[in-house]
Amino acid sequence: MMFWDGKYFLCVMLPGLIIGMWAQWKLHSAYGKYSQVPVESGLTGAEAARRILNEAGLVDMPVEEIEGQLSDHYDPTKRALFLSSDIYHGRTLAAVGVAAHEAGHALQHLHQDAMFNLRMALVPVTQFASYAWMGVIVLGMFLHLIPHYLMIAVVIFSVLTLFQLVTLPVEYDASARAKVQLFRLGLVREDERASISTVLDAAALTYVAALVNSVLQLLYYISAARNDRS
Ligand SMILES: [Zn+2]
Repeated sequence: MMFWDGKYFLCVMLPGLIIGMWAQWKLHSAYGKYSQVPVESGLTGAEAARRILNEAGLVDMPVEEIEGQLSDHYDPTKRALFLSSDIYHGRTLAAVGVAAHEAGHALQHLHQDAMFNLRMALVPVTQFASYAWMGVIVLGMFLHLIPHYLMIAVVIFSVLTLFQLVTLPVEYDASARAKVQLFRLGLVREDERASISTVLDAAALTYVAALVNSVLQLLYYISAARNDRS
């Protein structure tokens, strides 16, 4: 049982690759389109995020610019928002939508959203599982030093799948919060609603793809571990 065998390629790698590429394509086409469409309010992504944070009382929370494309995130340990240059300075529907989504994560943190907290608690466990997986590949698959590495693979992918499973509602909730605030504060007009939704839904799709990938890996290693025992 090796991770490069035909069954693994056909049942796990190929569908995972196709779904992942499809999600990336959807994201880049939605982002490409709406990063060309100016937002009526004329706000930059950073300004929109600032308004949402201030309204929630988070006036001291920094909104900072970082390098990279679509590297935008909320950092719960630093309690700060990081926006890529295009989003930070952009006065477009894509920029305002993405910035508001990240502000949505800050609101989840502020309101102690249960799933957000669970996801945060799972981060160190997930990081450990990811490192452990690299060890399993080298020591188990290549060097055959771990006798029951398939069982360990099942445990690792259970952790990773759980993490992706928790991530999904957190991401959808951040987008839902973003939309509520954007319209409530008048940062985006009603006729811009469908476009904002398209951008945010496309971003969420990448998390669906990641979940599908984890589930496929998990199912594969469960079936491989069963065959190994029989
Ligand atoms: Zn997010």
